[in-house]
Amino acid sequence: MIKINENYLKLQASYLFAEIKNRTAAFQEAYPDREVIKLGIGDVTRPLPQACIQAFHRAVDEMADDKTFRGYGPEQGYMFLREKIAKDDFQARGADISPEEIFISDGAKCDNGNIQEIFSRDIKIAIPDPVYPVYVDTNVMAGRTGSHNEGRYDGIVYLEGSRENGFIPELPGEKVDLIYLCFPNNPTGATISKSRLKEWVDFAIENKAIILYDAAYESFIRDDDLPKSIYEIDGAREVAIEFRSFSKTAGFTGVRCAFTVVPKTCVAYTRNGEKHPLHALWYRRQSTKFNGVSYPVQRVAEAVYSDEGKLQTKESIDYYLKNAALIRKEISALGFECIGGENSPYIWIDGRSDSWKFFDLLLEKASVVCTPGAGFGKCGQGYIRISAFNEYDKVEEAMARIKEALKA
Ligand code: PLP
Repeated sequence: MIKINENYLKLQASYLFAEIKNRTAAFQEAYPDREVIKLGIGDVTRPLPQACIQAFHRAVDEMADDKTFRGYGPEQGYMFLREKIAKDDFQARGADISPEEIFISDGAKCDNGNIQEIFSRDIKIAIPDPVYPVYVDTNVMAGRTGSHNEGRYDGIVYLEGSRENGFIPELPGEKVDLIYLCFPNNPTGATISKSRLKEWVDFAIENKAIILYDAAYESFIRDDDLPKSIYEIDGAREVAIEFRSFSKTAGFTGVRCAFTVVPKTCVAYTRNGEKHPLHALWYRRQSTKFNGVSYPVQRVAEAVYSDEGKLQTKESIDYYLKNAALIRKEISALGFECIGGENSPYIWIDGRSDSWKFFDLLLEKASVVCTPGAGFGKCGQGYIRISAFNEYDKVEEAMARIKEALKA
């Protein structure tokens, strides 16, 4: 008899975005004349930069000619892209990362989800709360947790975010082996300083642990003192894997291109204490299960690093940051405490009431859709997330409506 992986039965239904969709649809049916403004989802709204569009056209033309056509590419990605990434994203900031340590992929979501495969099943994992749900669910699927009880899985060490710690969790009070961190954070928009990040790197070194550092939103960092990469921190090359994505940086959510950095100095151990480089394991995993990102898409990603590409992507991010600043200003002026919205596209607002109640209030009174913080974990209860991914005039209109609604 064929059997299923019963760990899948432990997973909670992905209730958050389905429930938002249902409530929004019910509202629109009841009030068809009201225009709903969606500030809930973390998807970009601006088109690809022109430099990327031109590169796309050129690469498609190359595929149409037998002299320039390309079939399977290198599993780890083309060197023309990895060299630019290593130079511009890392070496230019003093982070010692070589092209050989970069793995091009079709998304930070799959890499974040797949990476746990190279680690033993019986490790202790530490995951923030609130959190991007992929880190938790993929470990549940792999059988690293017990069952779900009152909003939490048994066996996970939760790193709690709170008003008091500004949603930058403290170091765990116990020994853990694998630590998930994400800065600038989704959902909270929190950023971490170099000195706080150094504490995590030191903790990982001391505990022979590995940090999985999700930097999908690094391009929103404008404050030069904040680290864009964990490799700006001394010692991180020994204990950290970093995930990056072109999704939010350059509008690639529908194009699909990202990369993961696994330094050759990063190791984990066998049961007998023998050291193994993680680079070799991830290379083996990727070359077995993945056949690379399409050639045209890698050329499009390369164009992000051209002079025009850099200017155009900066312009797009600046646009979203302007939205974020407006949201932060207007919501703060209404007397709500918020974090994020600076160096981040997300604004995390203390609604001082149940997350879903506040969601309903904004929907019913202002026809604005946000994301209830409770959907990202127990510690998100009482908060909502507003995203800056929309047109500026829509954001202005949404803020005016919220102001009106909350005054009444
Ligand atoms: N990591 C975080 C924290 C995210 O918020 C997202 C997307 O929302 C991703 C990764 C996924 O990135 P990609 O589109 O490259 O799969």
